[in-house]
Amino acid sequence: MKAVIYDKDDHLLQSYHFDLDARKICSRLSQFGHEAYIVGGAIRDLLMGRIPKDFDIVTDASPSRVKKLFKSARVIGKRFRLVHIYFPRNKLYEVATFRSTESGDRRNVYGSLYEDVMRRDFSINALYFDPRDEILIDFVGGFADVKRRILRSVLPLETSFIEDPVRMLRALKYTAILGVYIARPLARRIRKDVKLLGNASNSRLSEELYKILSSGHSAEAFRLMDRYGFIKLFLPEFARKFDEHKGGKLREGVFSNLKDLDEEVDKRDVGRGAMIACLCERIAEEEGFFESALGERSLDDLSEYVKDLIVPLVQPNRDVENAVRHMFLHQGLCVPRKRNRRREVK
Ligand code: ATP
Ligand code: MG
Repeated sequence: MKAVIYDKDDHLLQSYHFDLDARKICSRLSQFGHEAYIVGGAIRDLLMGRIPKDFDIVTDASPSRVKKLFKSARVIGKRFRLVHIYFPRNKLYEVATFRSTESGDRRNVYGSLYEDVMRRDFSINALYFDPRDEILIDFVGGFADVKRRILRSVLPLETSFIEDPVRMLRALKYTAILGVYIARPLARRIRKDVKLLGNASNSRLSEELYKILSSGHSAEAFRLMDRYGFIKLFLPEFARKFDEHKGGKLREGVFSNLKDLDEEVDKRDVGRGAMIACLCERIAEEEGFFESALGERSLDDLSEYVKDLIVPLVQPNRDVENAVRHMFLHQGLCVPRKRNRRREVK
């Protein structure tokens, strides 16, 4: 397989777009004879005129070799080992060794650059930038897809979501956040495979959900998730509430709260508690949690309710309690006390 190589005149990326420490890591790896690229979300975001959140690096050097080359490196992961390289001010970079397409369940099978490309989910996420020669390497038409704003799968559609159902949620996340269109065959496959979401890992779903809630595009993402039938599968209790309330008023209320959240995250850092609050407040309101006649209800009652509402996603108690506090304050009410456990024991 041959890659298309784009130079500076084509890709228009400048070296100052790239994080200095990420470039230093690549430069040290190439000094020692290795291939090293910046890959994935950072390249996609820069090409789309967005500021990347982090800079991931891939190389042909093995994790133990990378560890030897960097004083602050730590090897992490059991099944697939990665290296974390630490820089001052808590900056952390992930360096992965090219993954083999054959690795399956076997540990630490490393591959070539091409094999690494073929393990990535979508073409816009499968672009590699070589900071030394300032070239963009594209095996899968990802650069054209970025320009056309289209989301296409790199992996075969027959198996991609069986292998990892979370990819479906990632597809909708990119659609909402980046404003890309889902290519027809991909959209058809998501509709077919949507049930597989029920098998997905809850912690990975939660992780993607928080990325969505903190993106500034959560209302759009939830509308898409609703349209594709995702909410029923990964937030079943939540979806049941939507369906109980015919006419769509509750649904619109939740979307409108998410719209407010989207405006908030543009202005300041919003914690997980506040995000859960935006998601759940309208439903808790509908259930009468904020009516003064029920003033005797404690913080714990609503916390339990919220936990049940967002099952199977598991949240730390602290985040749920913060969510409940936010809801009461947002309703203009005093935050009720926590149940006094000692008295209950008596
Ligand atoms: P975000 O901006 O939400 O972090 P990202 O594209 O950086 O998006 P990550 O989850 O940080 O996504 O993953 C980094 C890269 O790893 C992706 O760009 C993609 O190439 C690859 N990747 C991540 N998750 C998967 C997956 N489930 N299947 C295949 N490739 C994946
Ligand atoms: Mg990322």
